[in-house]
Amino acid sequence: LAKELGRNRASRFEAGLRYQALRHLDVEQALRRGLEHGELAVHYQPVIDVSTGRLHGAEALLRWNRPGIGPVPPDQFIPLAEETGFIVPLGEWVLGEALHQLGEWKGRNLLPSGFRMAVNLSPQQLGAALLTSVERAIGDNDLSPAELSLEITETTLMSERSNMSEAVHALASLGANLSIDDFGTGYSSLAHLRHLPVHQLKVDRSFVSGTEAGSRDAALIAAVCGLAQEFGLSCVAEGVESAEELQLVADLGCGYAQGFHIGRPTSAAVFAARWMGDQAGSEHPQS
Ligand code: C2E
Ligand code: MG
Ligand code: MG
Ligand code: MG
Repeated sequence: LAKELGRNRASRFEAGLRYQALRHLDVEQALRRGLEHGELAVHYQPVIDVSTGRLHGAEALLRWNRPGIGPVPPDQFIPLAEETGFIVPLGEWVLGEALHQLGEWKGRNLLPSGFRMAVNLSPQQLGAALLTSVERAIGDNDLSPAELSLEITETTLMSERSNMSEAVHALASLGANLSIDDFGTGYSSLAHLRHLPVHQLKVDRSFVSGTEAGSRDAALIAAVCGLAQEFGLSCVAEGVESAEELQLVADLGCGYAQGFHIGRPTSAAVFAARWMGDQAGSEHPQS
């Protein structure tokens, strides 16, 4: 009987795995089709200079609007795209879109000086082909590399991939800014950090959202900002959700801030209307 039960359990387990695999295939196919059919879009979230309150840049964030289902958040399909390798063409598409948008804004003189567009990179993208696509996207849109910031998570950066450091140095040699995303959630060694050509640390929002002065999280934010300063890097607080949190991160030494209190990610048109006074986008002020 025990054997029988075990066999049943095993086959149920296998059926479960098969179902999972099929579902993954379904979603992957839907995602590929979605990209072809214009269901994917890039939204933009503002980053401000804390001392002046002025716009400093934007982060490009991928959105998938599935017909009949609605918006699917990136956390629900990017891990899958990373597993299947589809993140490589998808990430290249995001880079192309974001830099095309940046070039268009620049051409219409909408950008404040020093504006930077941040684009997220997955570990699978960090290969030789990336350099070519970054160079092409910059060239095609008459941009300079300094207008681009590439975000790599702390976890990715500290992974043991042998080509990681090579890829990061190659990107930096192009002149693009490199930013360590979700900083504080991984385990960077300072020795390692010292050798990486990074320009910016982004304090993970888990340390910022809901944080009060005098708390351990506040001490951590101050420590990260201090570290950034020692290394000559800029420091961005992510996940600023209230006026109090904005004041707090300013007091703790963050030069830049991003979060729902400052502005949610929105379509390019809404972003331009709201943040750059673009008249052409002001017909759709609500989203
Ligand atoms: P991330 O790069 O750390 O991006 C910031 C995320 O925090 C965004 O979520 C943003 O909407 C959210 N956020 C910003 N301010 C606040 C706030 O005040 N409160 C809260 N609760 N959340 C806030 P989103 O757009 O859902 O993206 C999630 C993650 O998906 C991103 O985290 C990034 O790791 C990944 N992602 C998004 N777009 C891309 C992409 O084009 N390529 C890659 N490789 N990853 C992407
Ligand atoms: Mg990011
Ligand atoms: Mg982040
Ligand atoms: Mg994140």
